[in-house]
Amino acid sequence: MTTLFISDLHLDPERPEITRLFGEFIEGEARGADALYILGDLFEAWVGDDDPSETGAFVASKLKALAGAGVPVAFIRGNRDFLLGEDYARRAGMAILPDPAVAMLYGTPTLLMHGDLLCTDDTAYQQFRVQTRDPRWQAQFLSQPLPARIAFAQQARAASAAHQSGLKDQGTMETITDVSPATVADTFRRYGIGRLIHGHTHRPAIHELDVEGRACQRVVLGDWYDQGSVLRVAPDGIRLDML
Ligand code: MN
Repeated sequence: MTTLFISDLHLDPERPEITRLFGEFIEGEARGADALYILGDLFEAWVGDDDPSETGAFVASKLKALAGAGVPVAFIRGNRDFLLGEDYARRAGMAILPDPAVAMLYGTPTLLMHGDLLCTDDTAYQQFRVQTRDPRWQAQFLSQPLPARIAFAQQARAASAAHQSGLKDQGTMETITDVSPATVADTFRRYGIGRLIHGHTHRPAIHELDVEGRACQRVVLGDWYDQGSVLRVAPDGIRLDML
């Protein structure tokens, strides 16, 4: 009995070996799981479900087969693939969950997030997030022709890289792009749960915290840039491993 968590694969035609590793993981270990949760940034970029990308089609076919084999697949949108819609989710046989969502894992209520909502010190990013999660902004964006959307995504990625290197120059990169400890504590308080699992920061770790005398656990998933990363949750404990 194991439930698997992955995030931040950033699948991209430019790194085909990681897409292959994902395929092997889905056809291998994932087949024996109770469920698979993908906590965002499955794709490096997503400009609409109508994008005929080969990587998207490959991933949908693998996930659909997994779901067809009886393993439920759930997805939370990340900051790269926040435009992934119900149409693609249907093709992939996966359910889109809100961010955050609560899952009951072998008796332990667990809060699941992509993780960007916890990075409240990056006010420029949070403003961008509010703007791009507005349904009117999304409808307007998705109504543009595909080449225009692809160009916008390239610009947004360049702007994000420039923003991050600006933070590096100021020496604030490490703190601003990580979670805010106050927001983490507030999240544990607000939801009254003892375990939180998220990705986004690419800082894989299991943090044991004390929130007002209550023992809490924050698990951060790793990215799939140079290898895979998986969290295995079982009734008797959790393990965070590289693949
Ligand atoms: Mn992210």
